[in-house]
Amino acid sequence: MASKVRECRARVVAVRRLAPQVLEADLRLEEPPALDFAAGQWVSVPFGPKTVRAYSIASTPVRPRVLTLCADVAPGGLGSRWFVGLAPGAAVAFRGPLGGFVLARADARRPLFVAEEIGIVPIRAILAWLDETGFGRPARLVAWARVPGGLVYDAELRSLARRHPAFTYHPVLASADGPWRDAAGGLAEVVDRAVGDVRGLVAYVAGGEAMIHRVRDVLVAKGLDRKAVKWEKFW
Ligand SMILES: Cc1cc2nc3c(=O)[nH]c(=O)nc-3n(C[C@H](O)[C@H](O)[C@H](O)COP(=O)(O)OP(=O)(O)OC[C@H]3O[C@@H](n4cnc5c(N)ncnc54)[C@H](O)[C@@H]3O)c2cc1C
Repeated sequence: MASKVRECRARVVAVRRLAPQVLEADLRLEEPPALDFAAGQWVSVPFGPKTVRAYSIASTPVRPRVLTLCADVAPGGLGSRWFVGLAPGAAVAFRGPLGGFVLARADARRPLFVAEEIGIVPIRAILAWLDETGFGRPARLVAWARVPGGLVYDAELRSLARRHPAFTYHPVLASADGPWRDAAGGLAEVVDRAVGDVRGLVAYVAGGEAMIHRVRDVLVAKGLDRKAVKWEKFW
């Protein structure tokens, strides 16, 4: 499954606004003309000799010539400003594919996906890839956002859940008080309630570090092996 990491050049062919602070950009590869990657991997965009920003590939390997990236630009730093400035025709350079937040088709375990806000991006790629290539396994996604617009890909995920009865989608919105006021408390509680038996489970958790720790603790307390929790720390 490991693909060679390449220096890549691409050109922006489309930009879409999915929510007030969430943008998607389609990048058509120029060199190499297609990228060999696994759903869930990311690319590294350079901003100086030691400064990079990582962006997960939101699209799937079924379409290897045009990659979609998706960013929450609310942080407002270097990476966000770069993303906001992307327009059709712009040249983009990056390194990739990188990372091991991927699902092996031969892995028979039931995946539990947990996403905090924009952490949904690599999970969306994995789920879309399963949809395109044959779902073939029960799976569950718990996604948390502060406001409804923060549930990126919500309509697509609801449609996926309708088409695949073995896929369960739990969108969770923050509430003003109680454990759901933050992602760590909210997601830990929903995972605690939604997951009974952890035998044969593998977890994919993406978002902020505090949430990753809380959710992992809940799953490990239920008896899941730590190594069965894969995580992608965005911040
Ligand atoms: C493996 C990996 C994959 C990633 N994939 C994506 C992706 O697909 N889409 C995406 O938008 N970002 C993704 N990120 C985060 C991204 O690399 C940048 O950190 C983000 O765009 C903010 O960069 P910035 O320069 O605008 O802000 P910075 O000035 O670097 O960040 C400001 C602060 O905000 C924190 N922060 C960064 N992102 C968020 C966030 N969404 N919510 C709350 N706090 C945050 C940072 O840790 C930092 O403390 C990924 C990170 C990693 C490590």
